Amino acid sequence: MCIFCKMAKGEITPKTVLEDDEVLAFHDISPQAPVHVLVIPKRHVESLAAAEPADQALLGKLLWTAREVAQKLGLDAGYRTVLNSGAEAGQSVFHLHLHVLGGRAMAWPPG
Ligand code: AMP
Ligand code: ZN
Repeated sequence: MCIFCKMAKGEITPKTVLEDDEVLAFHDISPQAPVHVLVIPKRHVESLAAAEPADQALLGKLLWTAREVAQKLGLDAGYRTVLNSGAEAGQSVFHLHLHVLGGRAMAWPPG
């Protein structure tokens, strides 16, 4: 079972920000900004590229959850969402996750 599935099933306890029956949001173990949260579906989906048409509502739910995380953590000045799909994009955990980054100014383009 992958590490994020273990979190979804409660076998590993992350620093949870919020959770419901479909999604889990928790603090990244290696934060790249003052606030760095990952939003995952509890069901294993390998990547955005591996998602299927039936996953469309879940994909929307991830983005909505990122919005809720930002509100809950007071990211009123702005925040960035990032989704790395595939090795060349830098995906290192092959369980779909959306990064929510905030708490500092971030350059664009990211490089
Ligand atoms: P990515 O490179 O887009 O696949 O992002 C994977 C993210 O998962 C990285 O930012 C890691 O720091 C984070 N990560 C890996 N293991 C853990 C863990 N056990 N708890 C929290 N975050 C983790
Ligand atoms: Zn998984």
